[in-house]
Amino acid sequence: MAHPQAATCFGCKEEIKDKMLEALDKSWHPEHFACKECKKRIAENKFHESEGLPVCTKCFESKIQAICAGCRKLVTEKVVRALGKAWHLEHFICSGPCKQQLSGKTFVERNGKPYCSADYERLYAPKCGGCKRAIAEQALSALDNKWHKDCFKCKLCKDPIGVNSKFRADKEKQPICEKCGV
Ligand SMILES: [Zn+2]
Ligand SMILES: [Zn+2]
Ligand SMILES: [Zn+2]
Ligand SMILES: [Zn+2]
Ligand SMILES: [Zn+2]
Ligand SMILES: [Zn+2]
Repeated sequence: MAHPQAATCFGCKEEIKDKMLEALDKSWHPEHFACKECKKRIAENKFHESEGLPVCTKCFESKIQAICAGCRKLVTEKVVRALGKAWHLEHFICSGPCKQQLSGKTFVERNGKPYCSADYERLYAPKCGGCKRAIAEQALSALDNKWHKDCFKCKLCKDPIGVNSKFRADKEKQPICEKCGV
């Protein structure tokens, strides 16, 4: 006959027949009350909680609790883990001028710091030697500069200069095609 108040162990989902442990609003076989991180049984009275599950003190200190890479203070609530570091949600922000929160957004890393893609482009992406705007995709390298393919054209006649065409540079390092170049 089944026990009228048969409880189910949150760890193994099986019925608990003998000793029951109640913690975190759940029931457990004592041997299944285990740390969320290292899976080791938690025997001591002291444990921590993370997302409704028990975490042993050791794991809590090394994995859950963390020092924010932004402000160097302890993060006790929601930890953002990115770039191999931990951050307060409100401190994981763009290192460029916009300072927006980057959690859950795409970002680009430079020297261990996160940047939103717009600021990264503005600050660090190569600039086109022709139009001076950032080059996101493939760039053409010529005259110590990067160029959009369409921007690499003769300064005088504005004809595009192909990769294999001959050209010379004027003193502003702008290309002059063979036709105009003499
Ligand atoms: Zn169990
Ligand atoms: Zn643990
Ligand atoms: Zn912080
Ligand atoms: Zn930004
Ligand atoms: Zn350009
Ligand atoms: Zn030309």
